[in-house]
Amino acid sequence: MSAYEITHHKYDVVVVGAGGAGLRATLGMAEQGLKTACVTKVFPTRSHTVAAQGGIAASLGNMGPDSWHWHMYDTVKGSDWLGDTDAMEYLAREAPKAVYELEHYGVPFSRTEEGKIYQRPFGGHTTEFGEGPPVQRTAAAADRTGHAILHTLYGQSIKEDAQFFIEYFATDLIMSEDGVCQGILAWKLDDGTLHAFNAKMVVLATGGYGRAYFSATSAHTCTGDGNAMVARQGLPLQDMEFVQFHPTGIYGSGCLITEGARGEGGYLTNSEGERFMERYAPTYKDLASRDVVSRCMTIEIREGRGVGPNKDHISLHLNHLPPETLAERLPGITESAEIFAGVDLTKEPVPVLPTVHYNMGGIPTNYWGEVLNPTADNPDAIAPGLMAVGEAGCASVHGANRLGSNSLIDLVVFGRAAAIKAGQVVDPAAPNPELNQASLDAAIATFDKFRYADGSVTTADLRDEMQRTMQADAAVFRTDKTLAEGVEKMKAVAAKLDDVKVTDRSLVWNTDLMETLELSNLMPNAMATIVSAEARKESRGAHAHEDYPDRDDENWRKHTLAVVDGPNVELEYRPVHLDPLTVEDEGGIDLKKIAPKARVY
Ligand SMILES: Cc1cc2nc3c(=O)[nH]c(=O)nc-3n(C[C@H](O)[C@H](O)[C@H](O)COP(=O)(O)OP(=O)(O)OC[C@H]3O[C@@H](n4cnc5c(N)ncnc54)[C@H](O)[C@@H]3O)c2cc1C
Repeated sequence: MSAYEITHHKYDVVVVGAGGAGLRATLGMAEQGLKTACVTKVFPTRSHTVAAQGGIAASLGNMGPDSWHWHMYDTVKGSDWLGDTDAMEYLAREAPKAVYELEHYGVPFSRTEEGKIYQRPFGGHTTEFGEGPPVQRTAAAADRTGHAILHTLYGQSIKEDAQFFIEYFATDLIMSEDGVCQGILAWKLDDGTLHAFNAKMVVLATGGYGRAYFSATSAHTCTGDGNAMVARQGLPLQDMEFVQFHPTGIYGSGCLITEGARGEGGYLTNSEGERFMERYAPTYKDLASRDVVSRCMTIEIREGRGVGPNKDHISLHLNHLPPETLAERLPGITESAEIFAGVDLTKEPVPVLPTVHYNMGGIPTNYWGEVLNPTADNPDAIAPGLMAVGEAGCASVHGANRLGSNSLIDLVVFGRAAAIKAGQVVDPAAPNPELNQASLDAAIATFDKFRYADGSVTTADLRDEMQRTMQADAAVFRTDKTLAEGVEKMKAVAAKLDDVKVTDRSLVWNTDLMETLELSNLMPNAMATIVSAEARKESRGAHAHEDYPDRDDENWRKHTLAVVDGPNVELEYRPVHLDPLTVEDEGGIDLKKIAPKARVY
């Protein structure tokens, strides 16, 4: 049909994404002798995983007693009892193996005196099923853990002869008539050519969609492309209402300011100069838990006491601290404030805003990374030929709320699991079936439609409108009223995608077109998030609903499934997996230990 010449490629497996999850999957697939391609829109070591500093959780027990049972319990509780129990067991049990593998591949972990992998404490990680003291479970390579993991896995993947297609933008899945995923269409950014990848298995490892919001700690590339590719095939996205916020992202850029800044004595003020946290949390004040501080900041802004010309952010003061303290304890933050806010920390406050940090929801999968396409009789039916891992996937181990350092371990455990499964189900000797031409044509048509889009609203303006709406109405402060208004506003915003305007028609390094494709991907993520949030009449994990302050296990301990079609979203629900993989007699967890109770710390 088309005016485009297509270059064809054939592989056993195509992995889309080269962050921690994509690289671990790529390496595992190649090690199994599968002919593997990894397609990525940015250079592998520039993926958002590179920004992860804190570390990676696994019950190695190097700093004191620990067990996978305790890690599993903490993960179940962290998820606010929405995670799938089998997947959470798999994560906690396989975590030590996955970390030792990383060590053997060459990740330069920080060490203890005796030469073991060093582990630090992290929020929500405990001993004795939450009854004992905090545990040191988070392994780290200084404050560059993600960076070290990416470099190591990239080198190992090259050694195993995985083929990398770098700065190729995957636009859509190619599906057979009977719903088997057969490959992807990708646009090579530096020469403008289009490429069809035919594969027996496609693995989406495209990361989160933080950029659906005005303020996000994640990279500008985190636009939920894989989620949107799945949504465009009529497949559901799961638990999208659960979005984790951090109270102090720098206003505008979203760059993270660590909790340590308030730990060192920093405090927040509103436009009246009031230290408002004293009013909401008289005891812990500015050091109340992340979700509480985020919500209070949002209430101040909503009630007209935000600072700045648009009264839309809050001031974080560190200027009362001695300059030596700042230089010694917060050198990185001092630098970030200068670069990203143009602020001299010793003299003025930093403008901050509750900022999107992680997406718990994504493409539903089982604990092998196989994508689910639930039917009326089988809520665990799989979508053949398709896997999803990392922040794009929803296995679901984080449920309604993710614990710190549990994402990096999720990347490597499930990247590895996907490779093990593919080793069983993909036959390297079998021929690749012919690509469905109609599906390929549809993908090309979508690309072409945006290339020649000639409406009245620019991509930048529409993106801004979407981000501000999501930040105002689907963030930390949620009521029936704000969510209902937000859904109506977002429907209008999503409908405008048909009226978008692209000015550059060329194909080589066309950032206008690339950003438009990314916007078209953010939109279904945003719609699924706000509609799923509006429907959930309870508070659980990151979804704190002012009108329904309690968790309601009887009616709402279930996964949301959102099928998105432009501005329209259909919701269904899927049961949470309550059974673990092993029972107590087989060395598994005591079910009584993980029975639902109030989540208090
Ligand atoms: C600032 C920050 C600090 C964090 N710190 C920690 C921490 O200390 N510990 C922890 O456990 N978690 C942490 N997290 C969370 C964790 O880092 C992320 O959840 C995780 O790195 C996501 O990895 P990923 O492999 O799924 O995706 P990413 O690392 O985001 O990679 C996505 C990949 O997909 C590719 N891609 C996307 N779309 C396309 C497309 N259309 N075509 C081709 N390729 C595409 C990109 O090129 C990229 O290679 C942090 C997150 C942030 C933002």
